[in-house]
Amino acid sequence: MTAPREFLARHLLLPLHERLRGRSTLLQWRRLYAADRLDPGTWEARRLEKLRALLVHCLREVPHYREQLYAAGLVRPEAATLEDLARLPVLERDTLRTQADRLIAPAWRDRLIRYSTGGSTGQPLVFYTDKHREACLNAQKLRARAWFGVLPGDRQVDFWGSPIEMDRQTRIRRLKDRWLLNQVVLSASHLTPQRIAGYLDFLGQFRPRLIYGYPTVIYRVAQHLLDHPGLLGDYRPRLIVCTSEMLLPHLRETIARAFECPVANEYGSRDGGMIAHECPEGHLHLFGEQVIVEVDRPDADGIGDLLITNLDGYGMPFIRYRIGDRGALTDEPCPCGLPLPRLRKIQGRANDFLVGRGGRLIHSSTANYILREVPALRQYQLRQRADHSFDLILVPSRPLTAGEQEQIRNGLCRILDEAVAVRFQPTDSIPPEKSGKYRWVISEARC
Ligand SMILES: [Zn+2]
Repeated sequence: MTAPREFLARHLLLPLHERLRGRSTLLQWRRLYAADRLDPGTWEARRLEKLRALLVHCLREVPHYREQLYAAGLVRPEAATLEDLARLPVLERDTLRTQADRLIAPAWRDRLIRYSTGGSTGQPLVFYTDKHREACLNAQKLRARAWFGVLPGDRQVDFWGSPIEMDRQTRIRRLKDRWLLNQVVLSASHLTPQRIAGYLDFLGQFRPRLIYGYPTVIYRVAQHLLDHPGLLGDYRPRLIVCTSEMLLPHLRETIARAFECPVANEYGSRDGGMIAHECPEGHLHLFGEQVIVEVDRPDADGIGDLLITNLDGYGMPFIRYRIGDRGALTDEPCPCGLPLPRLRKIQGRANDFLVGRGGRLIHSSTANYILREVPALRQYQLRQRADHSFDLILVPSRPLTAGEQEQIRNGLCRILDEAVAVRFQPTDSIPPEKSGKYRWVISEARC
């Protein structure tokens, strides 16, 4: 049964909130909800239409792509095919960094939203999205949750990294999110047993239908719950969605066992868009109206670098963007009946926790909030040693100033709540792990 507050949030407050922010999220969601019932042929045709519209826009409005479309001989993109897409070059992160201005559609300049991200590779990146693209991204999230019976406006708790100091604006936003939109964010920083117990207590009272966040954090909460059964009373969530990191099998199993509910994996990022989500059958479906995914130079197992074309991004289009994750596609149909294509495998980001004063665990995203604010860091890897001190291996675009070093040092000590040494180690490049994955936070510290 829908509680009155959820009914109000779904039908009035959430649509109003999104509209006031200039986003047509709910309208987009209704379209996607209907698209889930299309036959594959109709669905494919709609997607091709979207690709063509984007390429036409790029030819007219975006200097970088205009040049590339001409060079590839794609002068009539309104008749392009999916195969034609592969004639365009891959968009590398370096191009985003050096050619950002030429990747922006001038007519969209006043609608752009700036983002910075650590990404999967530990290379901080600044890029631009826009309200339309954000609305489509949020709508895709809502769509996938509806596969599990969780609807917009339903009570939701997010376990999320957060800036160290919450400013007034953030605090007000959080109150509004809780009381108007039924969404509560719980910090993934400073995970002590007391704090986790407090979180479980809160979950039992607030009774969210959806729990969302980093699998490593939800796993910690799940472990505590298994050790202290009964903390949730008769409450069980309807769905837990894990995001941003690899959902390793033992994490999934523990979370599902502790909370006694389905656990689904979401794969997406700010730069690429909402890419894929597991269906109730446990298979990853691509959000094909938002992204076209190609596999670059697949190995014998079909796994290669994923290239993402975002069909909703008109302000700063991303076409064949090498997102930094690896994966494989499959043509096999899924028993769930969705018309969406499938991702067979994804090798995303692995994560380590940092350890602070008194053994508190700090999600690595918290360090990212500090490091991504230093634009001279082109790439980094933060290694925490057993004594809690740090080696920051970095590829700088120029030597860091004393002020920037101080800023990083203070920030890292603040998140640990402990004075530790930070050693800066500039280098020319940071190689990936043997697995081919980049890890940007590695901790040898144990609590
Ligand atoms: Zn499925």
